[in-house]
Amino acid sequence: MGHFQKLIVHMVNGDSSTAAAMTSIPPEGISRSVSVEPTASAELEEARSHYISMEVARVEPESEIITSFYLRRTDGQPLHPWEQGQFLPIRVTIPGQNKPTVRTYTISTACNPDHYRLSIRRGEGDALVSQFLHADAKPGFKLEAMAPHGRFVLGKSDRPVVLVSGGVGITPMVAMAEHIVAESKRKGKFRPVYFVHGTQNRRVHAFREHIRALAADHPQFKVHISYSRP
Ligand SMILES: Cc1cc2nc3c(=O)[nH]c(=O)nc-3n(C[C@H](O)[C@H](O)[C@H](O)COP(=O)(O)OP(=O)(O)OC[C@H]3O[C@@H](n4cnc5c(N)ncnc54)[C@H](O)[C@@H]3O)c2cc1C
Repeated sequence: MGHFQKLIVHMVNGDSSTAAAMTSIPPEGISRSVSVEPTASAELEEARSHYISMEVARVEPESEIITSFYLRRTDGQPLHPWEQGQFLPIRVTIPGQNKPTVRTYTISTACNPDHYRLSIRRGEGDALVSQFLHADAKPGFKLEAMAPHGRFVLGKSDRPVVLVSGGVGITPMVAMAEHIVAESKRKGKFRPVYFVHGTQNRRVHAFREHIRALAADHPQFKVHISYSRP
């Protein structure tokens, strides 16, 4: 990419010998006065440390205590790509708080340019952000988010994978499962998945139908659910 950028810069500057010598441009051959657009990874690094404005596009209950919030950028730009399992640092302005409140939530859907989905358990007692979002974050509600972070991600492999979770810990596993099913279908080669999940009972069990639908779409996707208080 660096070589290609230098080639373009030389051509734009009218250096006619460049095209002929395109395989031998020395690294120092580029003029320091020419500004080169930042690379995609430089933009991503920048986005990682800055909050951008997001808007709730859709709200979907997943169980009696877990609700999904679909977020889009307010400037209409596509989202930066993320890896399945990463989380989103968010900043929410809550009336009565003297400064915006920061929390992190795992993105519960596979990478796409359109939206993040955060699936948030309504906390008990004085749980500030989760209770506020459940009560007040309707479509159109604005908050801020950094680019996704985190190293707990699905490795690139075709080996069988076991996804184990409890309660709201299902969120990264849903993103990973969605990705594996989509990639397996695209490649025509099905990576075996064992999806193991524990929760209290059906009333609080999030993504029950969604995981069933993913399993129905993938011949080697086994689901095991265990309830502690059926
Ligand atoms: C990497 C990562 C990913 C995460 N992903 C998800 C996810 O996908 N979904 C999800 O639902 N959560 C997720 N979480 C948890 C989330 O970040 C929040 O911690 C959670 O929502 C609670 O925040 P809150 O503001 O609602 O509650 P808080 O205000 O932080 O309160 C938490 C608990 O402490 C109690 N409490 C508050 N103040 C006091 C006090 N002064 N004295 C005693 N007790 C008090 C509250 O009653 C509550 O029970 C994730 C966390 C991390 C670190």
